[in-house]
Formats: sequence, structure tokens, C-alpha cells
Amino acid sequence: MKNEALEQIKQQFGDRATDSPFECRLYSRDMAPVPALLVNPLFNTLPDLIVRPSDADEAAGILKLAFANHIPVTPRAGASTVYFNSVPVRGGIVMDLNLLKGVVGLDESGMTVTVKAGTTCRELDEYLNPLGFAMKSFPSSAPVASIGGWFCMMGYGIGSLKYGSLLSQVQAVEVVLPTGEVRRLTRDTEPPLAWFAASEGTLGIITQLELEIRKLSPMKHFLIAFPDAGKMGRALEAILHAPVIPYNVHFADDRCALAMHSLGFSPADEAPAHTLGIDYEGSKEELKQAQDMVAALVGADPATHLSSAETAEREWAEKFNALRLKRGGPSVLGSEIWLPVKALSGYLSDIRKMAGRYGLDLISYGHVVTPDRVTVMTMFYTDETRTIAYILDLSLVKKIHDVGRRHGGCPYGVGLWNTPYLGRMFTPSHLNELRQRKQMLDGRGIMNPGKVYRSPVILNPFNFTAGMEVLAAVRRVAGRSGRR
Ligand SMILES: Cc1cc2nc3c(=O)[nH]c(=O)nc-3n(C[C@H](O)[C@H](O)[C@H](O)COP(=O)(O)OP(=O)(O)OC[C@H]3O[C@@H](n4cnc5c(N)ncnc54)[C@H](O)[C@@H]3O)c2cc1C
Repeated sequence: MKNEALEQIKQQFGDRATDSPFECRLYSRDMAPVPALLVNPLFNTLPDLIVRPSDADEAAGILKLAFANHIPVTPRAGASTVYFNSVPVRGGIVMDLNLLKGVVGLDESGMTVTVKAGTTCRELDEYLNPLGFAMKSFPSSAPVASIGGWFCMMGYGIGSLKYGSLLSQVQAVEVVLPTGEVRRLTRDTEPPLAWFAASEGTLGIITQLELEIRKLSPMKHFLIAFPDAGKMGRALEAILHAPVIPYNVHFADDRCALAMHSLGFSPADEAPAHTLGIDYEGSKEELKQAQDMVAALVGADPATHLSSAETAEREWAEKFNALRLKRGGPSVLGSEIWLPVKALSGYLSDIRKMAGRYGLDLISYGHVVTPDRVTVMTMFYTDETRTIAYILDLSLVKKIHDVGRRHGGCPYGVGLWNTPYLGRMFTPSHLNELRQRKQMLDGRGIMNPGKVYRSPVILNPFNFTAGMEVLAAVRRVAGRSGRR
């Protein structure tokens, strides 16, 4: 029956469906390199079929057949996630949502736009900007990240500090439930749209979203350098408590600045230091107030340095290019931590100690996404082609998470690879609530199975911790002796 259903979809979708092993293989990975040695014995990441619906009715037809035949369905849009979020782990259908593109309607008086879920954030802003509007916030992967994909992840990024998460901006979604039923959900429906935010494709397919927009307004950018993480942390708190709320604040530690320098990237005309990039948008008065506040902050401490307006603007222009750092590779590994702002300087100081213990260079940067939370990426260079050394390095990803945890942080996003940390991300009652939602909407477990709700045996926290601790101990000795 399963094969018949897959064949039926394949016939129906013609050149928008494929089971060619070559094409299917392209869908069996995401942005993070994980050795086949670790993946293949445990998971079936090769889809049986890729299909590209172009509207909600087509997506519904696919889900009806999948539901009736217990076939796993993994939604995939920009695939810019790194925890196998959009990679199948039990084969089945990968639903490629990149044909769900375009703006459905703009409501200028209500300041909302209705957009198909596969539209990238950049594409939406390219539509809005010439009309004098803009997305309230966007991820730093906006050129490839779809709006539906961002909503199904945690939905914080550039602009969230001022305007809140994507969830707080979305007024309605059109969703295809696992049974194939198409629903329009708002905050007041049963289920409410909030259930689908950060659901990582495990509850249904979002096909359309209605979201709030803002008027495009002038911006002002500042880049301040600090001699140490402590001073940077204190200045950050002052900036966040000032009367004018920044649109965005991003930070980079001195290791990040050094790496950028060595690769010849901006801000190359500045000495490597801990930096805060602060971006304001709003009225002339607000921008003037912000400028005065920044001038007072820098004036109060001669050890800080304010870059020229030109350098600060260049830094803003590079906001989508964090992955340039990868060029120092061959590969990078890292962890993204959802960390209390107050803990940032302590976290950075412990990360420095960890780097010393393992004889490696750890680079940290990130965005302040709420007045209390910063998303911190801490990464290091490695080489995925040296399999054993690479597997040892993977244990350091957990060690970074452990430093984050000591400072009140947890991973940002779950997918498959962060399931060992579920206990750090959710309280038992919250996790229970999430599992009940899953049971209620997807009792057959066809939507993106193997993700988010529980870890597979090999990744259960006990096995995972024991395995990673052993690898980390070996890695520590190897790192010290330089034999890697
Ligand atoms: C350089 C870089 C910068 C990044 N910056 C940020 C950032 O600032 N903020 C942030 O939150 N993340 C960030 N990310 C992570 C990622 O880019 C975002 O989460 C992005 O929004 C995911 O969108 P996508 O279209 O690539 O989704 P995918 O990776 O394709 O999918 C993400 C998840 O959502 C599901 N899914 C996708 N579309 C749908 C849909 N329409 N219906 C149901 N389920 C769906 C998938 O099954 C998967 O579980 C960054 C990644 C990179 C590489």
C-alpha cells in the first residue's frame, strides 16, 4: 500500500515529484556536516519520494494519502537549519515547500501582509520595501530562510529585540493538518496558531501566514569596541535599559574579530576587540536620542572606541554574512545557545577557559533578541574529512552546551541532534503539554517523526552524556598533546 501511495503521488505530480536516488540524496542532509558513519546505521535519511506541491490543496492531497498509509512526511523549505530539522530520519516523503511562493495580499491600513509560506524573508522585504514597508524582524539567514520555516522554528532574529518574536507578529496561518484538513488558525481558534510556532514541521504544513509589517524608517548604526567581555556586558545592559529600544544589537568576541581580520573581512580597519553593533530605526528624534546615549556611554569610558559611521554601516550591511567565517575552515562546528543577557560576559569568560582546556580556538558572536535573551553562536574550526578527529570534536559541541547551561542557557531549536537536551529546554510539564498536542493532532505520528518530542535511544541523555564525556576526555588529551 505504501508503495502504491507513493507511486500515485509520483504520477500525479509529474516532474514535481522524484524518487531518483541522486536527487533524494540531496535531501538527506542539511547545512551541518555529520559523518555517514554516525548517521547511516541509525537513521534512514534517504527519502522515498520528494514532492513539490504548489498550493494548500495539493499539500492536503499528499497528506491524506500519507496519513492513510502511515507514510512519514518531512516538510522542507530553505533547509537552512542544522539539526536535521528538515532531514527525514525514517525515510518517506520529503515535502519541498519552495513552490509556495509570493504575496497573497497587502493590507496597508491594517499594516499586515499575507504571504505564502515558502517565500523567503528577503523576497518578502524585496516586495515590501519599494512600497515603504518592511518585515518587522527577520533571521540573519533571510536570503534563504522561508517565512514558514522561520515560524516553525523559534522565530527570533534581527528586529526581534524591538518587535518581538515572529509568533507575536503573526495574526493568522493557513495550515494543512496531518489528516489533510485545511484550516485557518488565529490566536483564538482551537487549536490556536501558537501551537504551530516552533513545532518544527511536526504538526502539519503551514501554507500561508498573515503577519504584521512596519513602515520603513531611517536607521542609524553604531559599532563600539571594548577591551574585555565584562565591559561589553555592562555597556549592553545600559543600552538595553535606555529609553530608546534598539532595533538590533549584535555582539562579537575578540576571537571572532581576529578570525574576521585574518580572512580580510569587515571591520578590518579596526583593532580586534569585543564589539557591539547597535542598530536603531525610528523617527529623527529617536535616532538623535540614541546617538546622544551612545556618545555618553563611550565618553564615560576612555577604554572603549566608537567606530566611524561608515564602518558601522558596513557592519550592518554584512548582517547576512556570518557564515563567511566558515572560510577559515575546512569545516566549522558549534552550538547556538539561548542565553540570559546578564550571563553573557560570564559565559564568554568560561568559554575562554574551555578553549584553553581543549587547546582550541572558540569564536563567539550573536544577537540580542529580547531585552533578556541573546542567541550566542560559539564555533570552532575542524575538518570533516578527518573522520576520527571530527567525531572527537563533536563532543566539544556538548561541552559548549554545558557551559551555556551553567549560565542558564539552553539550545536554540531541537530537530534531531538537540533531543538529548530536551530536559534543559523544557520543564517536564511543558514537554508533556507538547507531547499531548502532538498526540491530538498527529496520533499516527506521520509528521516529521523522530524529532522534537523525545530522543532516540542512542541519543537519550544517559547514553549521550556517557558517550560524549568519553570522547571529550580523549579529545582533551589529544588536544593538549597536539596529536589530532
Ligand atoms: C547563517 C545562518 C543564520 C541564521 N540565523 C537565524 C536567526 O537569526 N534566527 C533563527 O531563528 N534562525 C536562524 N538560522 C536558522 C534557520 O535559518 C532559520 O530557523 C530559518 O528560519 C529556517 O527556515 P527554512 O526555510 O530554512 O526552514 P527549514 O530548515 O527548511 O525547516 C525548518 C523546520 O521547519 C519545518 N518547516 C519548514 N517549512 C515549513 C512549513 N511551511 N510548514 C511546516 N513545517 C515547515 C521543517 O520540517 C523543519 O523542521 C540561521 C541559519 C544560518 C545558516
